[in-house]
Amino acid sequence: MAFAGCSEAVPAESPRPKTPRSIADRFAYPVGPGEYVTAARDKRDEWYNAQDFGENNHLGEDWNKNSGGNTDCGEPVYAAAHGTITYAADAGPGWGNVIIVTHTLPNRSEVQTLYGHLQEMTRTSGEVNKREKIGTIGNANGRYLCHLHFELREIKSPLWDQIGPGYSPDRTGFLDPSNFIDKRR
Ligand SMILES: [Zn+2]
Repeated sequence: MAFAGCSEAVPAESPRPKTPRSIADRFAYPVGPGEYVTAARDKRDEWYNAQDFGENNHLGEDWNKNSGGNTDCGEPVYAAAHGTITYAADAGPGWGNVIIVTHTLPNRSEVQTLYGHLQEMTRTSGEVNKREKIGTIGNANGRYLCHLHFELREIKSPLWDQIGPGYSPDRTGFLDPSNFIDKRR
């Protein structure tokens, strides 16, 4: 088996093709086992969406563990699909650490997933795989009980690659994360 670093073994006349940009053809939930049937949400599930997309003008979903309170602090947060981290920073009060991953869909359009209030960011740049751990659930520096604020944006979003308000009656460019994932699992 050849090692990737053995570039001298590749003949000059057949340069290795540039790695094609990986396509996000499948998505999974960013917490727990990643497999929920949201239409039949069941309290037996270990995780649940505590504040749905659109509820109270929420622009994302708040994912919590059923065990309640801060018992989910430090639980892993996973990339929902293959993509590239295009934002990773402490976005200040109300947000804490935030990661945005940009995904290329099979039709070549792009979407972004946003992971907010992270306690820890374990990945801050480069490509990530679906279900790769990128951070841990946090509380935005003590502002909330621990949970993951999770958004999904289309490229037409005016907030592409930016931190938004988290809540707004204007949902232009924002998608319902669970609906999107359920169609692509
Ligand atoms: Zn939220």
